[in-house]
Amino acid sequence: MLTPEFLRELARIVGPAGVVATPEGRLTYECDMHTFYKGAPDAVALPTSAEQVGEVVRLCLREGIPVVPRGSGTGVIGGAMAPRGGVMVSTTRMTRTFEVDLLNRCATVEPGVINLQLTHAVKDRGYFFAPDPSSQMVCSIGGNCATNAGGPHCLKYGITVNHVLGLQVVTGAGELLWLGSKARERVGYDLTGVMVGSEGTLGIVTAVRVRLLHLPEAVKTILAVFSSVEDASETVSAIIAAGIIAAALECLDEPAIRAVEEGIGAGYPKGAGAVLLIELDGPRAEIEAQAEKIVEICRSHLALEIRVAQDEAERELLWKGRKGFAGAIGRLTRNWLLQDAVVPRSKLPQAIRALNAISARHRLLVAHVFHAGDGNLHPIICYDAEQPGELERAMQANEELLRACIAMGGSVTGEHGVGVDKAANLRLQYGEADLAFMARLRQVFDPTGIMNPGKLLPSHPACGETLSAVPPQSLPQGAWV
Ligand SMILES: Cc1cc2nc3c(=O)[nH]c(=O)nc-3n(C[C@H](O)[C@H](O)[C@H](O)COP(=O)(O)OP(=O)(O)OC[C@H]3O[C@@H](n4cnc5c(N)ncnc54)[C@H](O)[C@@H]3O)c2cc1C
Repeated sequence: MLTPEFLRELARIVGPAGVVATPEGRLTYECDMHTFYKGAPDAVALPTSAEQVGEVVRLCLREGIPVVPRGSGTGVIGGAMAPRGGVMVSTTRMTRTFEVDLLNRCATVEPGVINLQLTHAVKDRGYFFAPDPSSQMVCSIGGNCATNAGGPHCLKYGITVNHVLGLQVVTGAGELLWLGSKARERVGYDLTGVMVGSEGTLGIVTAVRVRLLHLPEAVKTILAVFSSVEDASETVSAIIAAGIIAAALECLDEPAIRAVEEGIGAGYPKGAGAVLLIELDGPRAEIEAQAEKIVEICRSHLALEIRVAQDEAERELLWKGRKGFAGAIGRLTRNWLLQDAVVPRSKLPQAIRALNAISARHRLLVAHVFHAGDGNLHPIICYDAEQPGELERAMQANEELLRACIAMGGSVTGEHGVGVDKAANLRLQYGEADLAFMARLRQVFDPTGIMNPGKLLPSHPACGETLSAVPPQSLPQGAWV
């Protein structure tokens, strides 16, 4: 519980309209898109500048109150929720663009800027922001940095960390830091790299300098239809073995196609075992030659149908099916668990077979929608919470899916991050010494453990929850060069 004095001080910093403290208001912030995990903050602060963020963090530091950063709340890891209460710092009012520097191909924005809006803002001038999580129409760039988000086109262009040149950050010690610069070369320790993917456990990102890329001359989108996910996965391996770097290689299986067609109607053939959405971009002449080669590979891997989008409207519709899938899952099931694991690409067919066998053993339907080119799997385990025992079976299957992927040389998370959801799973991938070192790094940024407690490394003894408070520090002067 926060005292009236604390709330008054919060309102002084961010203005009365920038504080949400009513029970119904706080409830709106009790979870992210993984609605399984719930925890409403004691208050929400909506700052409008980095200085305000700094003041809020220092206030919380003084009182020993947890701080939970939040962007758009589209995370699926139980990240932007407050299991221990405290103050949630929402960046939704921090939406300024400070600079668009096309000569140096970069832009500097506040963390609340929505991913797709940045591309919309520079598209007419021939540029785009490459990281494109499927939630890009709503997720924030600050959230993308915090989770090191990926997306369909990250196969060719790389994930968020590859597109962040610099960050302005308020650390858990209340310091304001400027990390990185306009130059690609990073001098000294790569603290920008440390911050990206740290899920709000080290500090709050208050400005981001991102790379902008030239829009490609041409884009070609191909839908290839297969009788099984295994055939589609073998095709992915063959395309990559042929030396073709597609912009995106996305796969949906039969249940996923069914959901998309019933919910969206993207023109995927109902009843097909799998579809591959293949996108090529680059110089026109190059992608024409690559498209011919891809059609050949798809045919030799038993594609039942190959369709090339004839215009932008058809291309957009094909992508609407893929990117809008999450909204269509309700056509398949009342409840679902989403797994985010990754396997080496060559193991995709084997992984799909193993995951299907696990879900069959638990008598549950699993749907697959995944970034096939990266080996990043998103099995969706369908269950009905009202049927006794189904939730438990779904959770068991979810855990087994993850372990199967790790046994194949994969990783705990492909792109969504760790949050509370996978914190315990880190031990499947890292040894005690590795985790202890990460905890010590966390203490450097956040000496008292106030930043997003319970996430990423929650139960580690070195995690700092019992450390005594350090005195708040004043903001140092500094700037990006
Ligand atoms: C339909 C759907 C599709 C998705 N597709 C993809 C996909 O293709 N690829 C992918 O990677 N993810 C995907 N996601 C997950 C999610 O959208 C991404 O993780 C996204 O980057 C989260 O951004 P956000 O602004 O919503 O962050 P939030 O959910 O608000 O926060 C996520 C985490 O970042 C922290 N955080 C937020 N802002 C800051 C900040 N300014 N400073 C420090 N920490 C901060 C929070 O504390 C939390 O731990 C998808 C989600 C949905 C619902």
